[in-house]
Amino acid sequence: MKKRVESSVVKEAAIQKLLERGVTLEEIAQIVYEMQIPYNPDLTLETCLDSVHKVLGKREIQHAILVGIELDILAEKGLLSEPLQSLIASDEGLFGIDETIAVGASFVYGSIAVTTFGHLDKYKTGIIKKLDTKAGSKVNTFLDDLVGAVAACAASRVAHQLRDIDSPVEVSP
Ligand code: MG
Repeated sequence: MKKRVESSVVKEAAIQKLLERGVTLEEIAQIVYEMQIPYNPDLTLETCLDSVHKVLGKREIQHAILVGIELDILAEKGLLSEPLQSLIASDEGLFGIDETIAVGASFVYGSIAVTTFGHLDKYKTGIIKKLDTKAGSKVNTFLDDLVGAVAACAASRVAHQLRDIDSPVEVSP
């Protein structure tokens, strides 16, 4: 019999994996704040953190986090088969599947999320920079992109919310 997994259980597992890999939700919220404060001077870190939580409630995001981090961990332990092991462990620049999974998850939050992800991928804001320049035998090939995707989606949510407050008659789909 197929076992159905509750979304809340998957959300908790995704948050736990992020924490185990050294990423707190507050650090992701900080990126959201930096991305959105130019457009919303009244924005608070609390609103950004709430947005990160909402994004982590989406299955597409949860699944991307679980798959990506699992591959990072397996590569770190040398448990993948070659040549995938070397491609992921060395964070080969032309691999591209780490970004593909992250962009795919960002689609849920529309074009602002996708373009914001592209920006974060290029400029490596906040903790993304730390993850990208990982120390020693740590493998964060997927993690930096996943953090970028969560931050980009949360920033997109904040941007849309702000527009809804500005134009209360507008009905969002
Ligand atoms: Mg990467």
